[in-house]
Amino acid sequence: MKIAFIGLGAMGYPMARHLSKQHELLVWNRTREKAERHAREHGTRVARELAECAAAEVIVTMLPTSREVDQIVDKLMPDLRSGTLWIDATSGDPNASRETAVRLATKGVAFVDTPVTGATVGAENATLTIMVGGAPEHFARALPILQICGKKIIHVGPVGAGHAIKVLTNSIMGATVWITSECLLLAKRFGIDIKTALEATNAGSGRSNASENLLPMRLMEGKWPLIFKLLHHDKDIRIASSIAHQQHAATPMLALTQHLFTASLNELGEGADYIEVAKVIARMNGTTWE
Ligand code: NDP
Repeated sequence: MKIAFIGLGAMGYPMARHLSKQHELLVWNRTREKAERHAREHGTRVARELAECAAAEVIVTMLPTSREVDQIVDKLMPDLRSGTLWIDATSGDPNASRETAVRLATKGVAFVDTPVTGATVGAENATLTIMVGGAPEHFARALPILQICGKKIIHVGPVGAGHAIKVLTNSIMGATVWITSECLLLAKRFGIDIKTALEATNAGSGRSNASENLLPMRLMEGKWPLIFKLLHHDKDIRIASSIAHQQHAATPMLALTQHLFTASLNELGEGADYIEVAKVIARMNGTTWE
């Protein structure tokens, strides 16, 4: 099958590699050198220009936000063919994706939102969890393609449902990282060795992905790699807040989490990794993670 893959970033680059093992892959990236490297390393073909992607049977986008996806849709719109399937793996905005799906339908193009979770390691190992929003028949078409990149594929509802649940789960993760960091640093202030505090947390009721994986990775080795941009995590939590606003929902924890992450982003800048919020919490308490 001819698949056009647009957006070879930290996630898109390895996902396109997996797809290229079973399909004819055309790649396009804003920074062309990355697409050329992909073609050299994985035998994919670089699109001469973006418009060439419109001829593919399946178009996959993996971009920062729905805004960039819509810009690509605008550019491809005149050349799109009826019967094409558009798979948007971006962690996007459900309201924007519903409008995009309606626009694409006028050209006979089917749209599914398929955001992923599992970080760059999941993308590298094709073990992502993928949450899909879309009509059942479109989900059925997308499934064999998604199974190449992911281990667990969940059809969560109509268009937009994938994007909605993705930002909500990332908000849960953000709040968990924050409270776990606060309490570990409080244990340190109290005089408990922080690694001992972590061990006790993980043997008890406070354990989570934050305490078992995300924080120890940084604490044990003292390394803070850039895996998932805080810029993107903040975007996800802000989308979750907008859903709460739209649904007239009472979500004070979510609102607080959003403010804390946005404040951290303003302090740390766009180049920071999402777990670096733990450094902000340490500074708020006049301490460090060492
Ligand atoms: P990156 O910043 O690594 O990559 C972003 C990609 O989008 C790059 O290919 C970039 O091109 C391209 N891009 C950026 N702006 C534009 C634009 N205006 N027009 C066209 N292309 C553009 O992001 P990630 O791969 O980390 O994230 C992609 C999505 O996946 C995000 O929605 C994120 O929230 C989500 N996600 C990320 C995870 C992670 O652990 N990193 C985990 C799960 C989901 P260029 O190379 O030119 O910069």
